[in-house]
Amino acid sequence: MGIGQKKSKGTSKGSKTKNKQYKRALDTKRRPMDIDQVQDILEKVAETGKPLKFAYDDDLPGGGQFYCAPCARHFTDQGTLDTHTKSKLHKRRLKDVAQKKYTQKEADAGAGKSKEVYAPAHPELVAARAMEAETIAPAAAAADEDDL
Ligand SMILES: [Zn+2]
Repeated sequence: MGIGQKKSKGTSKGSKTKNKQYKRALDTKRRPMDIDQVQDILEKVAETGKPLKFAYDDDLPGGGQFYCAPCARHFTDQGTLDTHTKSKLHKRRLKDVAQKKYTQKEADAGAGKSKEVYAPAHPELVAARAMEAETIAPAAAAADEDDL
């Protein structure tokens, strides 16, 4: 029976690629929010001081009233949310979220890209241009008002 089982598993290339596509579709469908997105939201919550609140939504589990912010998941009731907060998955996620935020700057540095910021060769010229721009802008705005 060994040969028969091998055949049913589908070791040929064709069936494997098909299977992969199906799995990829499921992966993207169930993909949770990325860590940096969660960190952005948590930062905003900390800034405003308001806890995350969702309006009642029938499409979400539990009407969207039982939400775990670090995991970005909705739960059906308070009991499941409580058991979830005690779970290993949630604790692991908390650790991930508490890590330092990964930025584009860091990614560029890792890839060997760096952006050098030079001091202006003629600082007095730069300052003069900035002054010019400031004086021109209000004058132009005044001219627009005259036209109206
Ligand atoms: Zn959680």
